Amino acid sequence: MDFPPIREELRGLEPYGAPQLDVPVQLNTNENPYGPSEACADDIAASVREAALTLNRYPDREHVALREALAAYLSRDTVAAGFSITPEQVWAANGSNEVMLQLLQAFGGPGRTACSFAPTYSMYPEYARDTLTRWVTGHRAEDFSLDVDAARELIEAEQPSVVLLPSPNNPTGTALPPDAIEVLCKATGAYGGLLVVDEAYTEFRREGTPSALELLPTHRNLVVSRTMSKAFALAGGRLGYLAADPAILDAIRVVRLPYHLSSVTQAAALAALRHAPELLGKVDDLRRERDDVVTWLRAQGLEVADSDANFVLYGRFEDRHAHWEALLAHGVLVREVGPAGWLRVSIGTPEEMAAFRDATTAVLATPA
Ligand code: PMP
Repeated sequence: MDFPPIREELRGLEPYGAPQLDVPVQLNTNENPYGPSEACADDIAASVREAALTLNRYPDREHVALREALAAYLSRDTVAAGFSITPEQVWAANGSNEVMLQLLQAFGGPGRTACSFAPTYSMYPEYARDTLTRWVTGHRAEDFSLDVDAARELIEAEQPSVVLLPSPNNPTGTALPPDAIEVLCKATGAYGGLLVVDEAYTEFRREGTPSALELLPTHRNLVVSRTMSKAFALAGGRLGYLAADPAILDAIRVVRLPYHLSSVTQAAALAALRHAPELLGKVDDLRRERDDVVTWLRAQGLEVADSDANFVLYGRFEDRHAHWEALLAHGVLVREVGPAGWLRVSIGTPEEMAAFRDATTAVLATPA
């Protein structure tokens, strides 16, 4: 008898996670390279201190103040469309990973299906596995865009309860046009399914691609997932959230653990939201840095996927592992992820990107 008595389908599986290595230039998990200022850290510390005085009590289960602040933040993306997001439409959890797991707990399960379109975020099938939901994968086109007709046909054939669509996509950086989201929302809604647009990287999108939030008033089955881990420079705070019809939130309340969001997390996230202009202040610099590295990699003769995110997928390498290791030997950590032959680099500071370019130049010049 094998010990421990883990579920048969989990036996021998590796836990998900990028290597956490102590190297000088870490460009592998799409974090914001700019941490909070001293003033912001002081404000977070003061808020956490205040929360600490009541740590004998459970936190606000409904995290009302935080939902109000998140709704106000989201409404910046919807004012142009003439409406606001209300706190009744907002729900938060410990990272958007937890938000999406809760969605699968409430809307997936045995006898139900979830799907996405590969190459995409590799945690999605894990949410399905962990909730005993059947998982179906469609495929993206050669240039990583979504063939909307093929996607619609797959959705109509499989009728997934939940469709997970990241925009921009990880690891390719590809954003979805709003008309594609609308078509797929209608296809999913026709039989009662949900469409989740995962906007983890949305703040980095290029001009002219609106957020899927604009479609909320017209599509009850749309869920927009967000996170403070990326543009908001709060990966360590673990705060993800979604906007959706309040009836969808009621379903999530049934499956969420009691008091899932600690008082410390709520206090830290609220303080960070008060510093939104500072924490988001480097987003434009990061977008420029991204566009520069795309141009530079192409000038080296490499293939590069167009990116609306704070990372770039590039290749193709006959032996990507060898290239990844050679960069690591130069102190630069990128991510070995995505289709065979490609690597992903997160956008760092100008100094980190210079180190990445130098290391890449050196490795490309070395005969294999
Ligand atoms: N969605 C996508 C597309 C991601 O790439 C990530 C993080 N890598 C997440 C969601 C989850 O991030 P978090 O749990 O930190 O919000």
